Amino acid sequence: MKANFHTHSIFCDGKDSPAVMAAAAAEKGLRDLGFTGHSFLPFDPCGMTEEQETAYRAAVLAEREKYGDALHIFLGIEQDYFAGKRKSGYDYAIGSVHFVRCGDQHLCVDHSAEETQRIIETCFAGDAYAYAESYFALVGEVIEVTGADMVGHFDLLRKFDEEGRVFDESHPRYRAAVLAALDRLCPQKPIFEINTGAIARGYRKTPYPSRWILEEIRARGCSITINSDCHNAPDLDCAYAQAVELAKAAGFTHTMRFDGTRFVPAAF
Ligand SMILES: [Zn+2]
Ligand SMILES: [Zn+2]
Repeated sequence: MKANFHTHSIFCDGKDSPAVMAAAAAEKGLRDLGFTGHSFLPFDPCGMTEEQETAYRAAVLAEREKYGDALHIFLGIEQDYFAGKRKSGYDYAIGSVHFVRCGDQHLCVDHSAEETQRIIETCFAGDAYAYAESYFALVGEVIEVTGADMVGHFDLLRKFDEEGRVFDESHPRYRAAVLAALDRLCPQKPIFEINTGAIARGYRKTPYPSRWILEEIRARGCSITINSDCHNAPDLDCAYAQAVELAKAAGFTHTMRFDGTRFVPAAF
């Protein structure tokens, strides 16, 4: 049964209203639809202002009312590392790192391939692995810092690097940065997402993280869910079957779904 727990709308950087998203989810036969608007950050144009957040909450709750049991709609938030602890009043939170520190600046990890290169050159003296170490150090702390239930796009820095031209995942420094982050995160038992959003936006052909990272997640006793990190309605179930295949190949026997109170195991 398809579901999506990572959904954006016009109240942050999405293209469609919660009403349009919910209608598409119902049409596609999803059972669960969790909205996760971006938390406010002064330097992040994607974050919701207080006004947008109020409107977002009302719009999502109106859809929940409208669909009832026909489609389970949840009110979540994607809490950025630099926005700190999640607020109360949300069903669940995804904790995500979208920026790295560079002196007193915050530079965007998922802007573009060109911006990634610029960050590596200007902030990390051309050392891509120093950038990866800086990024994964923040990811390792993201659940402690945000209090979230789920880790968003664990290796977002590979959004524009499916071919591994910038980051070789088998490089010892890259592997060490990934494993240190997992070792810090996993005792808190967060859920990790298999994210298909970069496929929908034309940046990748496969979901991420890679199989070896998913195997390390499983070996540490953590669970996964499949999310499209959706920004427009037609992509709500983007590459869902491909993500299920990847999860199974990595040894997962189930996904996780939100039941209104907490995340529980569910069949793919
Ligand atoms: Zn995100
Ligand atoms: Zn997102």
